[in-house]
Amino acid sequence: MRYVSTRGGAPPASFDELLLAGLAPDGGLYVPDEWPRLGEEEIRALAGLPYAEVARRIVAPYVGDAVPSGNLERMVSEAYAGFDAAAVAPLRQLSADRWLLELFHGPTLSFKDYALQLLGRLFGRSRVLRGGRIAIVGATSGDTGSAAIEACRGLEGVDAFVLHPKGRVSEVQRRQMTTVVGPNVHNVALAGTFDDCQAVVKAMFNDRPFRESVGLTAVNSINWARVMAQIAYYFHAAVALGAPDREFTFVVPTGNFGDVYAGYAAHRMGLPVSGLVVATNRNDILARFFRSAGYRKDDVRPTMSPSMDIQVSSNFERLLFDGLGRDGAAVAALMSELDSSGGFRVDDACHAELRRLFDARAVGEDETLSSIAAAWRENGILIDPHTAVGMAAARALPPRGKGPVVVLATAHPAKFPDAVEKATGVRPALPPRLSDLYDRAERFDELPNDAGAVRDYIRSRVSARQAEEATS
Ligand SMILES: *Cc1c(COP(=O)(O)O)cnc(C)c1O
Repeated sequence: MRYVSTRGGAPPASFDELLLAGLAPDGGLYVPDEWPRLGEEEIRALAGLPYAEVARRIVAPYVGDAVPSGNLERMVSEAYAGFDAAAVAPLRQLSADRWLLELFHGPTLSFKDYALQLLGRLFGRSRVLRGGRIAIVGATSGDTGSAAIEACRGLEGVDAFVLHPKGRVSEVQRRQMTTVVGPNVHNVALAGTFDDCQAVVKAMFNDRPFRESVGLTAVNSINWARVMAQIAYYFHAAVALGAPDREFTFVVPTGNFGDVYAGYAAHRMGLPVSGLVVATNRNDILARFFRSAGYRKDDVRPTMSPSMDIQVSSNFERLLFDGLGRDGAAVAALMSELDSSGGFRVDDACHAELRRLFDARAVGEDETLSSIAAAWRENGILIDPHTAVGMAAARALPPRGKGPVVVLATAHPAKFPDAVEKATGVRPALPPRLSDLYDRAERFDELPNDAGAVRDYIRSRVSARQAEEATS
């Protein structure tokens, strides 16, 4: 499998190259140069398989010969072995045709674990191939950070740098990052928003000498390997509910567009998905796009679903690339318009093409709370505010296709206990593995919203770690 850049200005890359590079050298994102397809019989054969085996079959064509097949099998089975549900990604029935896909059974309680547990293992191996150290850098709106830290802690030769927007993540989210002890874990509270964190990370990736000097590697969903791993749970859920013989609508709480884009990839691989509903909070750039064909930045407003407080959705560029007939130059032109004037508009043909599969809805704060309350009242379940945004969108938009509607439950309710308690009067308990979270000591550094300062920090930490390892 070869990968091409969405901006058309970079040579094709192999899986190994993109795993370490993150962004393509022209500033675009890597996508497979063609979609591997599963036939009906291959999809049917996934039914009843363990999650890890479904994941192996889905990611195998993307990884190609970059990882020997025996190693890949071991990696996926280790990646999902520590999850606390036998099904790994269990389905819960809400009504005759509505289901909740629970993606919070990994070590840090959000769907991010489903990709990052595998990614950490892929990094561990590719560092060996590279023969040096790597510095994994990620911006987090809350959940990526802890999932990345959990996936990378203890990996030899790997340092994990995680930037979170200071004061804009929940206390549980912050503690999940800052209480992990390990010499290779470096938490930064950046004075800015998530979009600022993301811009700092992008600026560092665009600084080639720096990138190469520290072995910078991306852990955000701009890294294709993350999207790839997430495709697996769409297949796993759909075959359990009767794919390929039925059609599905997935409703996806969305911020950076990585998760719902994985659903799109599943569709391109042959899964009968007839609708993908993008559910956003009041940071609604995507909902506005799907309504109007205009993609225009707005100020980020904090909400009770902070992992979706995003106004520039990186992975949306990947969808645009397909929407524009894979014309990289056209994507590059729109992205430079976004930079220079804060927005762009696509033509009617592109908009209509994307609307055939996608729908979107923005959900306000009051509606999010009443959605949490309704799930408790009607189904007796506690849902987190991100999942609640998805549930509210599912309620408001009647499915266009036939078949079940599956709402993705992206985080455990105990990650956001205040919102859940406010809506239901019940404070969700942390699972046993995190029950002492509030007693653990925290460790993080505060930095200004400045790429240069973050770069200096990473440089000095990396050289200190090299010196430590040389003497130990
Ligand atoms: C990251 C996250 C999202 C948004 O996912 P994207 O792939 O960025 O669209 C939604 N809910 C939760 C709980 C998250 O952690």
